[in-house]
Amino acid sequence: LIRFDGVTKRFGSNVVLDNLDFTVSSGKHVTLIGPSGSGKTTILRLLMTLLKPDDGTIKVAGDYLTHEQKGGQLVPAGEKHVREVRKKIGMVFQQFNLFPNMKVLRNITEAPVHVLGMSKDEAEQRARELLELVGLTEHIDKYPTQLSGGQQQRVAIARALAMRPQVLLLDEVTSALDPELVAGVLDVLRDIAHTTDITMLVVTHEMNFARDISDDVLMFDSGRVIESGAPEKIFTDPEHERTREFLSAVL
Ligand code: ATP
Repeated sequence: LIRFDGVTKRFGSNVVLDNLDFTVSSGKHVTLIGPSGSGKTTILRLLMTLLKPDDGTIKVAGDYLTHEQKGGQLVPAGEKHVREVRKKIGMVFQQFNLFPNMKVLRNITEAPVHVLGMSKDEAEQRARELLELVGLTEHIDKYPTQLSGGQQQRVAIARALAMRPQVLLLDEVTSALDPELVAGVLDVLRDIAHTTDITMLVVTHEMNFARDISDDVLMFDSGRVIESGAPEKIFTDPEHERTREFLSAVL
């Protein structure tokens, strides 16, 4: 469902992703781990088209995100094409980024109504289902500032799912939370991982969570995947010295 082919991203002379290839199959949950600065967040930002690669191609659900077909030729993607492909992708950030001036319900219905053209009734019905899924039904009429960080993050998860994305990107979604709020958010995400067929690409420092939900774990170092495999293998018997060092520092 996601395919990176020869993707390179530089910031000045800093090569953040170096000719990177990887794929994520439909319905799979893939976690990116690795030291700070190894390029994990950059991958998610490329998928959200917040950044453009310097080289290589990215495909999502059969469409190029970086290019489009015009007259039988592959040309750099135009804005309209990018908007269409991006609708397939939902993202939850470290900072919840809710609309502060809108109540919980409207935070969730805003994009389905205005971007997808869903009717208000249908969007509200779906929002109620999602609020039940994330355990926030009784907070539907509150503003974000009236909620804890963990509750705000659960609204952000519901908001991302409201767009019915095929892919959910999670970027260190518990890093900004007080420790006692982390478990509630991870439980909701475990539930989503185990009960839906959504494809997930996850950057996290929560290794137990990664172990629970991942089909595959990719270990990054200096913009390359140095090792990948099932969580049972990577977390208990890694091949690479760098992976062993990284895991002994974080586990
Ligand atoms: P972390 O776990 O700390 O979030 P990461 O693996 O997600 O790390 P990235 O955020 O992808 O790493 O960053 C990779 C490298 O790219 C870092 O060296 C960072 O300083 C650099 N970088 C990221 N964004 C920019 C930017 N907008 N301008 C310049 N350099 C950047």
